[in-house]
Amino acid sequence: MKPAPFAYAKARSLDHAIDLLAQDEARILAGGQSLIATLNMRLSRPALLVDINGLDGLDEISRENGGLKIGALVRHVKAEGSTEIAQYAPLIALAMPHIGHPAIRNRGTVGGSIAFADPAAELPACLLALAGEVEIAGPQGRRIVHADHFFKGLFETALAPHDVLASIRVPAATAATRVGFAEFARRHGDYAMVGLAACARAQGDTLADIRLVYFGVGSVAARARNAERSLAGGDVEGAVAALPADLHPSEDLQASAAVKAHLAGVLLRRVAKQLASPRIEGIAP
Ligand SMILES: Cc1cc2nc3c(=O)[nH]c(=O)nc-3n(C[C@H](O)[C@H](O)[C@H](O)COP(=O)(O)OP(=O)(O)OC[C@H]3O[C@@H](n4cnc5c(N)ncnc54)[C@H](O)[C@@H]3O)c2cc1C
Repeated sequence: MKPAPFAYAKARSLDHAIDLLAQDEARILAGGQSLIATLNMRLSRPALLVDINGLDGLDEISRENGGLKIGALVRHVKAEGSTEIAQYAPLIALAMPHIGHPAIRNRGTVGGSIAFADPAAELPACLLALAGEVEIAGPQGRRIVHADHFFKGLFETALAPHDVLASIRVPAATAATRVGFAEFARRHGDYAMVGLAACARAQGDTLADIRLVYFGVGSVAARARNAERSLAGGDVEGAVAALPADLHPSEDLQASAAVKAHLAGVLLRRVAKQLASPRIEGIAP
């Protein structure tokens, strides 16, 4: 199928993009890896595509105020090869190879993944696990929204129609940071049937500030707070047993609710091992 007719405008600056978005039914075009598919299937029919590719300053990765800032237009392939991300956001480094296939990672952007907020996508879950923030540029200026308040529901975020997601920021990992990531997908690169992104802080022999974020199990990536409490006490099997109170997976085209619930426990055991380890293989310390 071909998309319904639409107009196209190339934004010259962030302010220009925000002005263009004031028009009815205008949508941002970033990497196009999700948007173009929805246009072709006529699942969305925007009147105007506002192309933000090439906007200055949105494709940089930089250290800022004890954190790491990743511009919205950083492509997945750049994030995957970034030494700053490997060192200061190792959870994102672990997740990147699971996003689609190389052709998708060559074009898809970090900002596009966060803005699209697919419930089975890796990066929204990582942002939530890292207690990161989203920088939004809108008609009233810039604002920062914590990840806890950014993801609202199925493909729904705190972004208003005239907003541009400018960057995400995550706290920089320290020697005490522990991360874990695992997912089940039918084939490597497919969206996850169930996935788990986790972050914690080592405190002597125990873990504190644990954030276990599941994706692919509901309408939005979500923390498993009961399991977090058990894991903080070092009780991995208790954490697995607590999952039914946290997760209520619904059946989808990939798996039944029962299979998803079972896989969630399997992933938790794997990720708990990773969290207990100060080094993740392949990731710079
Ligand atoms: C075959 C296939 C497999 C895939 N597998 C995976 C996978 O396993 N995991 C995964 O996470 N993703 C997967 N993707 C999606 C891919 O990661 C996309 O890159 C991503 O979802 C969207 O990024 P994009 O830059 O392409 O955004 P676009 O497609 O350009 O835009 C997506 C949406 O976000 C909005 N948007 C984009 N950028 C901004 C911004 N800066 N501010 C505000 N709104 C914005 C757009 O208006 C649009 O509504 C897959 C895609 C394909 C085609």
